[in-house]
Amino acid sequence: CLQFFVGGNWKCNGTKDSISKLVSDLNSAKLEADVDVVVAPPFVYLDQVKNSLTDRIEISAQNSWIGKGGAFTGEISVEQLKDTGCNWVILGHSERRHVIGEDDQFIGKKAAYALSQGLKVIACIGELLQEREAGKTFDVCFQQMKAFADAVPSWDDVVVAYEPVWAIGTGKVATPQQAQEVHIAVRDWLKKNVSAEVASKTRIIYGGSVNGSNCSELAKQEDIDGFLVGGASLKVYFYCWA
Ligand code: 13P
Repeated sequence: CLQFFVGGNWKCNGTKDSISKLVSDLNSAKLEADVDVVVAPPFVYLDQVKNSLTDRIEISAQNSWIGKGGAFTGEISVEQLKDTGCNWVILGHSERRHVIGEDDQFIGKKAAYALSQGLKVIACIGELLQEREAGKTFDVCFQQMKAFADAVPSWDDVVVAYEPVWAIGTGKVATPQQAQEVHIAVRDWLKKNVSAEVASKTRIIYGGSVNGSNCSELAKQEDIDGFLVGGASLKVYFYCWA
C-alpha cells in the first residue's frame, strides 16, 4: 500500500492574514503520521509559509518556468522556488491548461526541467465534461500521461493527480467508481508504457470537489492514493481528517 498523499492547492486565494491563520491552524493540527501532507500557496506567500509552517508539511509551488531563469517577465524559476524552500511543483493543472492555455509539450518541458533540478512534481491530468460525454476520458488522460512520460526520465519524484475538469470547483465530485475506473486505467497505462515497477510505485491521487464528507469513500478505492484538494484545503479541518 502506497503512502497516502494529501495536497492542498490554495490556488489564487489568501492574504498575509488569512494565510498566517491557516498556517497557525496547521501547526497545531493533529495530522496522521503516515500521510504525506503538502501545501501549495500562491508564489508571493511561499516565503511566509516556509518561514512559519512546521517542517512536517512540505511546500509546493503551483507552477514553474520551463528552464533556467532570466529575461522571462512574470515567470518564477525552479531555482527560485528551491531557494524559498519549496520542494514540489504542481504542473499541468487544468486551470493552467484550459484557462491559461498551456499545452502538453510546454507542460512536459516544465516537468523535465523541474525534475532535473530536484523538485518533485504533481503531474495533473483530466478530461473536460464534453470529452467525458464523448467517451474520450481515457484517450485524453493517456495522451496527457504520454506527454509527461515522454518528458520525464524517472517517475521516482512524480505523483499523478487525476482531476476531471468537470469536478473541479463545481461541487460535482466524481463517484468513487468513476475515479477508481480512471485511476486503475492510468496505472495500467503506466504498466504498459513505462514499467510494472513504476505502475506499482507511483501514487495516483484524485482531485475535484473533495471535501470532508466525500473523502473517506474515495479513499477506500484501491487505486486512489491520496487527494489534491482546492477549496476544502483552505480550512485546517480537511487535513486533520486526512
Ligand atoms: P476543488 O477541490 O476546489 O474542486 O479543486 C480541486 C483542484 O483543482 C485541486 O488542484
